[in-house]
Amino acid sequence: MKDKLEKIKNDALAAINSADKLETLNETRVNILGKKGELTQVLKGMKDVSPEDRPKIGQLVNDTRAEIERVLEEATVKLERVIREAQMKSEVIDVTLPAKKNAVGHRHPNQITQEEVERIFVGMGYEVVEGPEIETDYYNFEALNIPADHPAKDEQDTFYINDTYLLRTQTSGTQVHVMEQGKLPIRMIAPGRVFRSDEVDATHSPSFHQIEGLVIDKHITFADLKGTLAEFAKELYGEDIRVRFRPHHFNFTEPSAEMDVSCFKCGGSGCRFCKGTGWIEILGCGMVHPNVLRMSGIDPEEYSGFAFGVGLERIALLKYEIDDMRLLYENDERFLKQF
Ligand SMILES: [Zn+2]
Repeated sequence: MKDKLEKIKNDALAAINSADKLETLNETRVNILGKKGELTQVLKGMKDVSPEDRPKIGQLVNDTRAEIERVLEEATVKLERVIREAQMKSEVIDVTLPAKKNAVGHRHPNQITQEEVERIFVGMGYEVVEGPEIETDYYNFEALNIPADHPAKDEQDTFYINDTYLLRTQTSGTQVHVMEQGKLPIRMIAPGRVFRSDEVDATHSPSFHQIEGLVIDKHITFADLKGTLAEFAKELYGEDIRVRFRPHHFNFTEPSAEMDVSCFKCGGSGCRFCKGTGWIEILGCGMVHPNVLRMSGIDPEEYSGFAFGVGLERIALLKYEIDDMRLLYENDERFLKQF
């Protein structure tokens, strides 16, 4: 019995001393001291020991157990310290290493321009609203007085998702959504992405941005349109800017016009930038067509209004004198950081 206890103790100490993992120490504890452990088995065998030897053997078992527990505890503490030190060593920060560069993004010229346009109109009391990029034929065309046989509806110009849905070709549909809500008067701009089936070149992209504007109230006239848009041009390009309106055709406005601003490069005398004309076209506009008002449940006898649409990229290209639209979409940081 004594030899057996001695052997258990020596085996246990050997196992503990060679352990390099906390799991190994725990296994040893279970194997020796656990419910089915070797030492526990010895205790269970006490009934076979003669009564006069029992106290002595019992004492020996307890001493062995105490000794193993003590060594186990010491080994655990020591091993935990070793593991902690190794961990700290591996996680140490080398202060001599160069710091990681913090890559801070930069606002895109489109974004800067959009915020500038929003700032101008919000300053005039307009609300900024958003519309869906996926529209139905009704909101993109029909409600804007664009008939079924209009060339803009051709599959060569518009991305159709199915017979009902399409990628909006203009932000004008947002006007209809706002008018349908029936809250009058309306003073809104709606910036957003639009899609057309165009090949990419210096002035075209299948996806670009527009900013739509709509005002509906009683007694709104073409004079309000001219005054508002002239003020917008001055805020955007400077106090000396002059504007002119050329008659044009849009289905959803009548009368319709395109607005030019005097060339901010040459002041109107003609240069390469304005192709010698002294004027630069920046937006389309007009008085909201009575059909459009009627379809959205607004009485054209009582209310009138004007609408305009600005190409965001066009404004950005002019503002920053960028001659190729593709540069706006290439996401080349060296280019974008200039603005
Ligand atoms: Zn010019």
